[in-house]
Amino acid sequence: MQFIDLKAQYSELKTKIDARIQVVLDHGKYIMGPEVAEFEEKLAEYVGVKHAISCANGTDALQLCMMVLDIKANDAVFCPTFTFYATAEIVGYAGATPIFVDSDEESFNICPLDLENRIQAVIAEGKLTPKAIITVDLFGHPAQYDALQAIAKKYNLRLIEDAAQGFGGDINGKKAGSFGDLATTSFFPAKPLGCYGDGGAIFTDNDEYAYLLKSLRIHGKGVDKYDNVRIGINSRLDTIQAAILLEKLAIFPQELAARNKLAMAYEQALASKNSIKTPKVAKGYGSSWAQYTLLSDDRDEIMAKLKNANIPTVIYYATNMHQQTVFKNLSQDNGSFPIAEKLSNTVFSLPMHPYMDETDFNKIIDSMLGG
Ligand SMILES: *Cc1c(COP(=O)(O)O)cnc(C)c1O
Repeated sequence: MQFIDLKAQYSELKTKIDARIQVVLDHGKYIMGPEVAEFEEKLAEYVGVKHAISCANGTDALQLCMMVLDIKANDAVFCPTFTFYATAEIVGYAGATPIFVDSDEESFNICPLDLENRIQAVIAEGKLTPKAIITVDLFGHPAQYDALQAIAKKYNLRLIEDAAQGFGGDINGKKAGSFGDLATTSFFPAKPLGCYGDGGAIFTDNDEYAYLLKSLRIHGKGVDKYDNVRIGINSRLDTIQAAILLEKLAIFPQELAARNKLAMAYEQALASKNSIKTPKVAKGYGSSWAQYTLLSDDRDEIMAKLKNANIPTVIYYATNMHQQTVFKNLSQDNGSFPIAEKLSNTVFSLPMHPYMDETDFNKIIDSMLGG
């Protein structure tokens, strides 16, 4: 059994994807070919934003946001401690200081109350300049944007939505990727919308940001490629990946429905079990179910049972950012993240993808609950 079954998806789409790739091989425009612009247009339409700017991966997407906002040394950028490393890494790469924030126990996302406390603490200390908040739609559940946008406004901070996992989620129909001043996503193969290599994108309604991003991703180009007007990077989505993504985006709504169906089946089978806490989606929110993540004090035993039945499980994430070796010098590892630490000690994720069949599903449930 696969944790995420990409082969099943490919066999479903093989004819269409193969044909799309062949078109690229025939026209030979491997860098910034016509499929890139076509994909960006469809992507912006799906998310409901003015601009979608593709790039080489989700980490670069975040880094490009740091560049657009001119985040630098002595700036503070607030982000959840319970997240994938890239969210915090790019803050450090920009030379700024990540300020870690505890989690909300129900959604696993950044806690608005703790965020405001930590913003006030940074202001009171007076050493760093608060500049931005990076929220993460963890495991597919959008963060609490009503509260978060109000905080960003109150303290005049830019909001960046890391929707690498959230792509496809929504709040009352407004799609993930449309909530920040800037939002990012990743097309890493295992993400809700993945390609066959690395890929990423940035979303914004801001024309000036979009203009800058299109320059920064191609060596800070001016009117043409060999007129360089600013320091940029080389971060483009390959034409072949855009071609693949076009076919995958076309069936993404059906896949999202299948993910939701599986999440509901898991909920029905597992919600009443005492030793397990199932993930809940807040009212009005839609999850992309990037992961189906359970909490249990008996995590090790349950994972061992599943392993014995050859069922893969993964712990996302066992180590919080404040506990990472690289961030020890920030002295934020003093145990003031009780929720995030509880999560990292009890979470584990079950296989989650749109192509799970009944046999595999029953096997997972029977192995978890049996013996
Ligand atoms: C995967 C991921 C990223 C990075 O995306 P890449 O395409 O792998 O660089 C960033 N943030 C979060 C929350 C992620 O899950």
